[in-house]
Amino acid sequence: MNKKRKIIIVGAGPGGLAAGMILAHNNFEVKIYEREDKVGGRNRSININGYTFDTGPTFFMMKFIYDQLFEMIGRKSEDYLKFTKIDPMYRLNFSNNRVFDSTTNLEDMADQIEKTFPGESKGLMRFKEKERKRYQKLYKCLEKDYTHWWDFLRPQFIEALPILGIGKSLFSNLGNYFKPELIRLIFTFQSKYLGMSPWECPAGFTIIPYIEHEFGIYHVEGGLNQTSMAMANVFNEEGGNIKFSTEVKRLIIENRKVLGVELSNGEKDFADEVIINADFAYSMTHLIEKGELKKYSKKKLDEKKYSCSTFMIYLGIDKIYDLPHHNIYFADDYRGNIEDVFNRKEISKDFSFYVQNASIVDKTLAPKGKSTLYFLIPVPNNFSAIKWNEEKEKFKKMYLDGVINRMGITDLKEHIEVEKIITPSDWESEYNVYKGATFNLAHNLQQMLYFRPRNKFEELNNCYLVGGGTHPGSGLPTIYESGKISAKLIIEKYKKRD
Ligand SMILES: Cc1cc2nc3c(=O)[nH]c(=O)nc-3n(C[C@H](O)[C@H](O)[C@H](O)COP(=O)(O)OP(=O)(O)OC[C@H]3O[C@@H](n4cnc5c(N)ncnc54)[C@H](O)[C@@H]3O)c2cc1C
Repeated sequence: MNKKRKIIIVGAGPGGLAAGMILAHNNFEVKIYEREDKVGGRNRSININGYTFDTGPTFFMMKFIYDQLFEMIGRKSEDYLKFTKIDPMYRLNFSNNRVFDSTTNLEDMADQIEKTFPGESKGLMRFKEKERKRYQKLYKCLEKDYTHWWDFLRPQFIEALPILGIGKSLFSNLGNYFKPELIRLIFTFQSKYLGMSPWECPAGFTIIPYIEHEFGIYHVEGGLNQTSMAMANVFNEEGGNIKFSTEVKRLIIENRKVLGVELSNGEKDFADEVIINADFAYSMTHLIEKGELKKYSKKKLDEKKYSCSTFMIYLGIDKIYDLPHHNIYFADDYRGNIEDVFNRKEISKDFSFYVQNASIVDKTLAPKGKSTLYFLIPVPNNFSAIKWNEEKEKFKKMYLDGVINRMGITDLKEHIEVEKIITPSDWESEYNVYKGATFNLAHNLQQMLYFRPRNKFEELNNCYLVGGGTHPGSGLPTIYESGKISAKLIIEKYKKRD
């Protein structure tokens, strides 16, 4: 390549960092504008008085995708981070004190199923075998870009077509292996990553529980926020430049070509290509002038399906509870709770939640003898009429009392040293997440692959997308893939030209 091409990336979230490190390594001049004073976006850390919390992701799946990202540019992730495999992976708590410890150990998993539902454990082997095949075919499709409709004619896609599970849901697909609803729920909790109801989530996503059970899940010392920190370190080593506390106000567009960005401080910066990592629907509605877009105008965006939101409670406490690392509590009426969150858009009194007690494996997160607790409660996104911030204290009390009661940790309030709350309104106003839909656009088939906003953005030239709102999807591994795809498309473009 003769001329050093200039790239601007809006946002230093996992997607922006992944694209940035590959492009910087490939001799592009890359600058990231990040509105916050640290990297990571929804994956950044929250630090309060010696306590460290992950804002968002706590389940690190498909570690090999992250490793490959580092290998692509001659690095080893282990040189930057300390990983711990968590097994049993998580404890699932159902009504009537029924508990299930999900593990990658097949024998142990089968024993637990057999104890509650004799005869049902044979479904486990079939689940692994059939879903392995689905995964092997489907993942190849997720790694590709879908710039053109004829990308559907690729042999990988045609081969995967029969196993997409079109017309079937995750929950119904699990019925092929397990009859009792409770066992199916053990394998459907993962649709949380997609912010979707297991009764609506396409059957193809049965590969997510398969992936967990096949490859396991990891914790990273210091929290998963360190994965973004390590990527930023590599980006800097490769000569990349991150401008912190610098907000992009709008894209500079002429004749549908993106020329650069205008910052909130009034400065303008120009580049050969602009990559958007900030939340997709937020960017379309805030960084691009009205009337510029057709397919993704505000009206069209509001007709799309979005993930749920989350009410977050982060507590620093002066003791350590004897709880596993990851814990999921199902509402007694789980289906009713899901209907409230996704369809009725109402508050459930009987709610499901997730608790992370990471200090039991990671002593760096809290002062000695103390610990962090992270509570995630799936709730409706901001297409609901709920006034989260006007009644923040009321909601906090309701959710805190609910988890104390359900978990039986009656002394919790006496031990709280620090606390932070993020409501769906906060996600929207403080984190620039459109409608507070924390897991972006939903992953229904009408919003997947070619039908999801494309990596080479279809509405504007010299503009690429990375992150949870574009192809392939909203979990960390797929977000890294989006960074890889967009970076590769840009590298190819200039290889041909220069
Ligand atoms: C509560 C929660 C739990 C999750 N749990 C998991 C999990 O366990 N496992 C998993 O794999 N995934 C999980 N996810 C999903 C996903 O991995 C994260 O949301 C991830 O951080 C999204 O990455 P991203 O690259 O799309 O962008 P983001 O993390 O949203 O980063 C976008 C960046 O753009 C910046 N920005 C925004 N606007 C501007 C602007 N105008 N100018 C400059 N910069 C701007 C933001 O500050 C931010 O740094 C979770 C998400 C949430 C919210």
